[in-house]
Amino acid sequence: MMYFIGAGPGDPELITVKGRRLINEADVIIFAGSLVNPDVLSGSKPSAVIHDSAYMNLDEVIDVIKESTDKGLRVVRVHTGDPAIYGAIREQMDRLDKLGIEYEVVPGVSSFLATAAVLKKEYTLPDVSQTIILTRMEGRTPVPPKEKLIELARHNSTMIIFLSIGFIEELCSTLIEGGYDPNTPAAVVYKATWPDQKIVIGDLTDLAQKVKDAKIEKTALTVVGGFLGDEYSLSKLYDKYFTTGYRKGAVKEE
Ligand code: SAH
Repeated sequence: MMYFIGAGPGDPELITVKGRRLINEADVIIFAGSLVNPDVLSGSKPSAVIHDSAYMNLDEVIDVIKESTDKGLRVVRVHTGDPAIYGAIREQMDRLDKLGIEYEVVPGVSSFLATAAVLKKEYTLPDVSQTIILTRMEGRTPVPPKEKLIELARHNSTMIIFLSIGFIEELCSTLIEGGYDPNTPAAVVYKATWPDQKIVIGDLTDLAQKVKDAKIEKTALTVVGGFLGDEYSLSKLYDKYFTTGYRKGAVKEE
């Protein structure tokens, strides 16, 4: 049995209790050194063998997992945030299935959730947006034509853009072209929850320049939408006049 573990966004306390325990018990650790905070591994056994997957291709990762599990060693593969989002976990799981190696996936706190936390915002505000689009711009990995940013933009939903900070100017102009009001608030969070985290806030007209001024070039998320503003309706769930399955609403006085 080996484990894929979501390491969380950076702060070493933002890993699940299960993920932490499995790392501490592991004999072999494969982690994405370019993104995972090494402090997440600080409790590992002194004897644990640590591999940085930044220097490995898929075959090499699978070889390490196979050789180690064959010997009965405890192996963990540590991904940044949650492995289900741009984690390239599926291709690994498919190879392990073919080899008959059992594994379990332990989820983690994705950087997009850490970003809401550090911004102290809620992505789903009543009367503003009830939909979150997680996406990326096309880089070396293509994006299916129906999912091009310009297509997604017309919904004016809360949008979270991964892996695209290098194209921030094009990103903002495409969103405007696709249908967001140019004054739509937008923010960039660099290394959310790390000690050197940076937050840049603006709108679609000035965000790109502010990001350049802050010298942010990687490991950042762009979030866009009215949820960053201050106009919204209160929730029904906690409305004192609204009856829920757990609570009877008060009767409004005329
Ligand atoms: N599985 C990860 C995402 C991996 S893709 C997750 O769930 O967060 C890598 C991209 O994620 C980066 O280019 C950046 O856009 C974003 N990212 C990862 N960690 C981040 C962090 N701490 N702060 C801001 N963005 C981050």
